[in-house]
Amino acid sequence: MLQEPIVNIIGKSSSQIRKEYISSDVIKNLVERNVGGKCKTCEIKRLCGGCRAAAEGISRKYLAEDPTCWMGKNNK
Ligand code: SF4
Repeated sequence: MLQEPIVNIIGKSSSQIRKEYISSDVIKNLVERNVGGKCKTCEIKRLCGGCRAAAEGISRKYLAEDPTCWMGKNNK
């Protein structure tokens, strides 16, 4: 569901695709959990990180807080 383009694979070798994938800002942001809102300060963001597709679907920003947080309103 995530709409962020990562790598255009057309006409590229697998090693080139891998290189571009690894250096992608989108992948770095996902791996490093550069998320916002309540996800940013959440004590378990390394484990969870929230659903990035839900964040993008609601706010149009894939790094925004997850509006479907399973911890509910008790998570501040
Ligand atoms: S979705 Fe909820 S539990 Fe997961 S990182 Fe975000 S605030 Fe934390």
